Amino acid sequence: MYKDIRAFLQHELAEIESAGLYKNERVITSPQSAEITVGDKKALNFCANNYLGLSNHPELVAAAKAALDTHGYGVSSVRFICGTQDLHKQLEAAISKFFGTEDALLYASCFDANGGVFEPLLGEEDAIISDALNHASIIDGVRLCKAQRYRYANADMSELEEQLKKAQAQRFRLIVTDGVFSMDGNVAPLDKIYCLAEKYNAMVMVDESHSAGVVGKTGRGVSELHQLRGKIEIITGTLGKSFGGAIGGFTTGKKEIIDLLRQRSRPYLFSNSIPPMVAAAGIKMFQMMDRTNELQDKLHGNTAYFIQKMKDAGFDMKPTESAICAVMLYDAKLSQDMAALLQKEGIYVTGFYYPVVPKGQARIRVQISASHEKEHLDKCIAAFTKVAKALNVIN
Ligand SMILES: *Cc1c(COP(=O)(O)O)cnc(C)c1O
Repeated sequence: MYKDIRAFLQHELAEIESAGLYKNERVITSPQSAEITVGDKKALNFCANNYLGLSNHPELVAAAKAALDTHGYGVSSVRFICGTQDLHKQLEAAISKFFGTEDALLYASCFDANGGVFEPLLGEEDAIISDALNHASIIDGVRLCKAQRYRYANADMSELEEQLKKAQAQRFRLIVTDGVFSMDGNVAPLDKIYCLAEKYNAMVMVDESHSAGVVGKTGRGVSELHQLRGKIEIITGTLGKSFGGAIGGFTTGKKEIIDLLRQRSRPYLFSNSIPPMVAAAGIKMFQMMDRTNELQDKLHGNTAYFIQKMKDAGFDMKPTESAICAVMLYDAKLSQDMAALLQKEGIYVTGFYYPVVPKGQARIRVQISASHEKEHLDKCIAAFTKVAKALNVIN
């Protein structure tokens, strides 16, 4: 049998490659940071989700090491059988406190959190109204649920309203959106979404994966930015981006919702608990967030500086409200050529083109971090300027 399928798979792989969509891994031999080592070359990293620069933070590394001694390496169980340690409960409490919610539930990833949130809560007689640009894990989670599906164009509030009108036929309604959309860096208009939810009697769910730690004056996410703390029914997020970058996800929000997920959410019931060292580092991370907004302030300053200097240099920058900065080039080949030349200059960024972004909207995505020093940003801007001049993108 494998002989037959092998030919089929080889053909598929060749198609991916000829479409220029084959994904290669860059092997990093240093910790994740602003300065990384790739093979034997040093590079400045502008494509990690390490927004607060915590991926290799000494306090988190120390907390993880200490937990190895006090709580061991793994728990070899799902949460409800014998996989809940005091650290898991403490981390869940810290997540609720951070977001101003009633309770929280840990998962192995946010992919799992989104995969396990819809099906236990909603059935055939209900409706999910989803932003067209929502993350793949939300799309998959919705597929696992029997609720009626409605979709609106990215952040388009008149389309959302139309869909909400149609969804009045259903029993319960849930509007679901990413907090920050990963290609443009735009923030979901949660204030307007919340008003429509009130008007049309719907609940709201926000995935704060790219926004937590980043958006809002103290990095509490889109619900802080739009002054909706404590009002959003469901928030999901990851420990794999701003929050230390190791592994883990969560759902947080209304008490009864979290309670029911604890009873029925399949990725929670049937998948292992996160390792104690990850939980301990997570607790330490939220303690740091309680203590100071230093990293958030530095990130906001870095992003504003980068955008302004790039605009001054003549680049076409998408307006951003996050740490995701899109340098618009509009041409697919140009985005790839430019990213390759930047890599030669020791600047790691990613070029995106159709079908990842709409046709004619090719770009380079730059992700800013609190771990970037001004000299890193200046080197990046200088490299962009040099390469763009060589390619006649700017004069
Ligand atoms: C990264 C991301 C996820 C996945 O998070 P993991 O914890 O890595 O599984 C889910 N949703 C959104 C919006 C994301 O950006």
